[in-house]
Amino acid sequence: MTAERIDGKAFAARLRERVGEMAGQFEQWSGRKAGLAVVLVGEDPASQVYVRSKHKATVAAGMESFEHRLPADTSEEDLLALVDQLNRDEAVDGILVQLPLPDHLDEQAVIAAISPNKDVDGFHVTNAGRLAVGQSGFVPCTPLGCMMLLADRLGDLSGLEAVVIGRSNIVGKPMAQLLLDANATVTIAHSRTKDLPAVVKRADIVVAAVGRAKMVKAEWLKDGATVIDVGINRLPPADGEEKGRLVGDVDYAGAEGVAGAITPVPGGVGPMTIAVLLRNTLVAAYRNAGLDVPD
Ligand code: NDP
Repeated sequence: MTAERIDGKAFAARLRERVGEMAGQFEQWSGRKAGLAVVLVGEDPASQVYVRSKHKATVAAGMESFEHRLPADTSEEDLLALVDQLNRDEAVDGILVQLPLPDHLDEQAVIAAISPNKDVDGFHVTNAGRLAVGQSGFVPCTPLGCMMLLADRLGDLSGLEAVVIGRSNIVGKPMAQLLLDANATVTIAHSRTKDLPAVVKRADIVVAAVGRAKMVKAEWLKDGATVIDVGINRLPPADGEEKGRLVGDVDYAGAEGVAGAITPVPGGVGPMTIAVLLRNTLVAAYRNAGLDVPD
């Protein structure tokens, strides 16, 4: 059996197109474009790449992108003052502070300062709490993107066994909440889990969010399982390569022979994250303007 390849890139392209339509409608109704403000502190190369691609995607969707690049030695006071200004700016619907922040800045304090109604990353404790108790808020983009891929592939998830490997606040925990909301039976595994292969073996749905290249082996998987690989890991460069290849947390080549469907890396979950960020921003724009959010 060869697993179906879940094409996150194509799904994300469709989602971005839909977001573009919603952005056009929003502009017609409100007389202004929906706006996303992205704050980058310092010069972390990976963060610079992410911020650039978020900017391009935001503009391509017909939305306003406000970029704020601050020097690495920015004080917490100055950063909090900028967040406060963005909270009050009516042209700004969503605020994203690119993580990680330089060590001298307290990430939790900065996230806590973002208005929960503009927290399109869904990292604010208010939004984490809303997700936990089943109220509508903002859900972190990566797990929400995974959920869209799962719903598209499997439809109703009721009663399915789901194993989430990883318990971070930005991926593992919200992923587990979303699966629970969808009536799956959810297990969260982590670095202290005993006999991880046996835990994974019972799963109809496996979500791997660890950050260890090819850790999940084909033999761990149940026949026909749906596998969502969140991990992004760069291998050391092979002979003749300038940069190593990107791989996920799942041994794709082996898993393909056992799984029913699997997301590739790259081209699976990754492209969904920015598409969902754009969608979250538009949802913020509609809600903050008191308009019904279209489907
Ligand atoms: P974290 O480092 O915050 O969390 C990793 C989790 O994996 C922890 O809960 C940890 O357990 C668990 N873990 C570590 N080693 C093992 C092990 N041997 N067995 C079982 N569990 C283990 O990472 P993130 O959640 O932020 O990200 C996870 C991966 O997803 C990374 O590769 C990251 O690059 C990628 N990612 C991809 C995104 C995308 O857009 N595609 C977006 C966000 C992340 P413990 O809690 O016990 O330490």
